[in-house]
Amino acid sequence: MRLFHCECCGQRLYFENTHCVHCDTPQGFDPYTLSLRSMTSDAFRPCINRESGICNWLVPAQSDDQYCLSCRMTLVIPDLSVSGNVTLWADMEAEKQRLIYSLFRLHLPLVTRQLDPDNGLGFRFMADAPLGDSERIMTGHLDGVITLNLAEADPVVREATRRQMAEPYRTILGHFRHEVGHYYWQQLISNGDWQEDFRRRFGDERDNYAQALQRHYQQGPRQGWQQHYISAYASSHPWEDWAETWAHYLHMVDTLETAYEYGLTTMPRGSATSSAEVNLHDDPYQKLSFDQLIAQWLPLTTTMNSLNHSMGYDDVYPFNLSTTVIDKLSMVHSVIHQHSNGI
Ligand SMILES: [Zn+2]
Ligand SMILES: [Zn+2]
Ligand SMILES: [Zn+2]
Repeated sequence: MRLFHCECCGQRLYFENTHCVHCDTPQGFDPYTLSLRSMTSDAFRPCINRESGICNWLVPAQSDDQYCLSCRMTLVIPDLSVSGNVTLWADMEAEKQRLIYSLFRLHLPLVTRQLDPDNGLGFRFMADAPLGDSERIMTGHLDGVITLNLAEADPVVREATRRQMAEPYRTILGHFRHEVGHYYWQQLISNGDWQEDFRRRFGDERDNYAQALQRHYQQGPRQGWQQHYISAYASSHPWEDWAETWAHYLHMVDTLETAYEYGLTTMPRGSATSSAEVNLHDDPYQKLSFDQLIAQWLPLTTTMNSLNHSMGYDDVYPFNLSTTVIDKLSMVHSVIHQHSNGI
């Protein structure tokens, strides 16, 4: 994620800011230039969800839309009269905005359901029925519509689920990145030029999906999955492997961009050879080759984990990248960049 500056006073600002922390000028995020703007011109007006504290994005003044681009992608919101739901929904929207930022940075095709009812991207945030006897809301993707169970925004529920599923990592942003991976599989891989490459690396997605998931939940992940998959769940079916790998690629480029924005260089002491120095020198979303991304990513993750341990936390990055997984990530990189270069 980029860092931003107040256009009035130069103060450093962040993606989520609604006001300058120095001069108090109202700030809004312009999704068309991917920048935070001081709301002093009449070229923009705020998204209507700013009133409820949900959104700091801007709408061009000449637009007929009341909602910003991100909020227009939300198809279903929870019942806001239920106590606590506004906060949970706000947390969902904040992470979704980070997702949409990354999709724009990667120049991925992004269209609302209003413009393309069949292939557009939309989100539903839904809570389980209170009595618990109806079917639970399942987090997932279907033909461009991503559904998240609202309870995933509750950190207590999310941590309990994480432990129960024996997962090392579970976040709202991770859910979004995973589910949108299914969407882009349909958009960029299925029936296209990449299908053969996909099957060679990830396996044949025509394997019965329902049976594969049932097998995964009943028998656990494949033996030795660590050699071939980014996560245990990725070993359940080629589609899930793709979504997990795709999500991981988004973790990488966005975290690298943040490190780049801060001018971070890693050069561990005690191994002060020139090869140990990693200088984050270019825009990871667009300019770095895949080999450069990996070369910068691995030492950064070690640094991040060590910083976390110093604060008494577990690994922020509980993953190991095998050569097979790196090869799969390189395919995600190629698919995205081939698309964004318009080849
Ligand atoms: Zn300011
Ligand atoms: Zn909005
Ligand atoms: Zn999935």
